[in-house]
Amino acid sequence: MEKLNVLLNINSNYFIIGLIVVFFTLEQILTTPSQFKKRSMHLAQNALFQVLFVLCNIFFATFQVYSIDWLNDNHVGLLYLFQIPVWAKLIIGVVFYDITTYWIHRSAHIVPLLWRFHRVHHSDTALDSSTFFRSHPIELIFIFGGGNILTAALFGTDVLSMALYYFILNIFLFLEHSNIHYPVWLDKTMGWIFVTPNQHKVHHEQDQHYTDSNFADIFILWDRIFGTYKYKLLKTIRYGLIEFDEERKQTFLYLIKSPFLTIRRVNSDELKNH
Ligand SMILES: [Zn+2]
Ligand SMILES: [Zn+2]
Repeated sequence: MEKLNVLLNINSNYFIIGLIVVFFTLEQILTTPSQFKKRSMHLAQNALFQVLFVLCNIFFATFQVYSIDWLNDNHVGLLYLFQIPVWAKLIIGVVFYDITTYWIHRSAHIVPLLWRFHRVHHSDTALDSSTFFRSHPIELIFIFGGGNILTAALFGTDVLSMALYYFILNIFLFLEHSNIHYPVWLDKTMGWIFVTPNQHKVHHEQDQHYTDSNFADIFILWDRIFGTYKYKLLKTIRYGLIEFDEERKQTFLYLIKSPFLTIRRVNSDELKNH
């Protein structure tokens, strides 16, 4: 447990830098499903989101840890009703953080105010590992970050299991967005329980019928259980949102202010007539 503590205390920013270096290099070397016109510009625009997020998150991260510790000290949440070994509590904690995120993500596709922020992540017209960065900081901090405090309040999960959750989540999210060919057999094996890269890419399809599916980050089980699982072959997927499908709408500055602009969502029927 001590070793795990040391591992999870490694600054997550360094871990993310390591992951982007590995995946970005792989995408340069291998033959990739998506082609880019200006790949380094795409990386630069997306990386700006991460820089802004890290700066904005400095205060919230402290508040989040303080809030979860306070809830734990006061034995708030489901897990405090049972005697559970520490290691089991850690694993169950990861499961609880992931299921809450599933429901928050699903709500972000339904509630118009939340969609205004979440559509930034869906706006990317070609996916690669840098799409990991493309999320509005307000969404990451207040909607998903706030969701972690909610998870702790409901289930009694702690900060250590949240650190383990993020460690696993970051690896999954890089895999899911990476511009690499993954075999279809992976979707039919591991893809019964865990989210595979091909399954998450269905979530980035322009057609709302598919965008509103595969909400899970780590366990695809949630989509299978709650009826939101859909599948489509990678080569048939068109990424992004038609309402953001212009070069000027793909810039960091436009995207960062886009939640405050009225942009009508194009549904499946309208897309067919487009
Ligand atoms: Zn989404
Ligand atoms: Zn995504």
